[in-house]
Amino acid sequence: MLSDIMTEGECSQLRSLLAQSETIVLCCHQNADGDALGAVLGMGEVLRQMGKDPVMVAPDQYPDYLQWLPNSEKIVRYDKRKDYVDMVLKIADLIICLDFNTLSRTDQMEAALSASPAKKILIDHHPGPDVDAALVVSRPGASSTCELVFRMVWQLGLFEQQNKHFAIPIYCGMMTDTGGFTYNSSDCDIYYIISQLLTKRIDKDKIYRNVYHNYSEHRLRMVGHVLCNCLVVDEQRHAAFYTLNREDQKRFHFVKGDAEGLVNMPLQIKGLKLSISLREDTEKDMIWVSLRSVDDFPCNEVAARFFNGGGHLNASGGKLQCTLAEAVDVVKQAFVAFEDRLR
Ligand code: 5GP
Ligand code: MN
Repeated sequence: MLSDIMTEGECSQLRSLLAQSETIVLCCHQNADGDALGAVLGMGEVLRQMGKDPVMVAPDQYPDYLQWLPNSEKIVRYDKRKDYVDMVLKIADLIICLDFNTLSRTDQMEAALSASPAKKILIDHHPGPDVDAALVVSRPGASSTCELVFRMVWQLGLFEQQNKHFAIPIYCGMMTDTGGFTYNSSDCDIYYIISQLLTKRIDKDKIYRNVYHNYSEHRLRMVGHVLCNCLVVDEQRHAAFYTLNREDQKRFHFVKGDAEGLVNMPLQIKGLKLSISLREDTEKDMIWVSLRSVDDFPCNEVAARFFNGGGHLNASGGKLQCTLAEAVDVVKQAFVAFEDRLR
């Protein structure tokens, strides 16, 4: 059996917030990943089962490898339909914020979310929640926001009535946020949840293939190029980084999602503790930074101190407003600053 995720007070508050609200908006962070979209779609399905008609919003484009998710075509993109979403946020009763800890993670949507008179519920697993919400379910120990959504639905007694359209996105989010259950995934409850999701007759092997075997030939060749020609390993400090410049993205027909999983690969080197990806934005003078680490090395501290970002202990991100060459210098400084903890 699963332990409760909410106190009785939180549970009854959730029940009444959902019952009272007519117009409900579900939203996630910019550059949505499997967990963010899975949580929006899973929660959306639960609300539809309750007779509601939630508006599901993503701040911007989400990757191709998630477009097979059932009902993903119902997600409204803020960057494409700003006026419509602004209008809905003005009249909304309730906004459910999923998989982010601060409104700035929604980028362009931040202002409209702050200005909305709607009550908010925050459901997230990033440390340091900073959203003014009527109910905050923040559990940094959880594998994923999708796990939290499952547990909340379970505790509300609503799981029985769910079908595949709930189970598929929830499984997908739990899978993608743990790299296919290869990290942050040793809590036995995760496997109890999976066994329950499988009762909805989902094909978990197909979900895996849809996500991880869904790349173009270009992407595979880009990975080869980056690992062969762009990876720099600092053996002494057990750290590595690579750069992915604009020209190479063009050459390999880069599309959103193509960088997924790449930053984890250098960690296959024995003893390596930290891997950093520097990817040049295709339009703006900006570098997208991804960080991954193993064991107790806190890549979120590196992200916060050097890359204007944050995230989890072993998976973080950030961005730099500079050139790729300048970003490389920042990485080198970061390796030196953290060398005692990397050795
Ligand atoms: P990714 O490398 O996949 O973009 O991000 C890895 C993790 O870091 C995700 O859990 C994501 O939510 C978090 N993250 C990515 N970018 C940022 C950022 O700019 N700020 C914060 N606080 N977290 C981030
Ligand atoms: Mn997540």
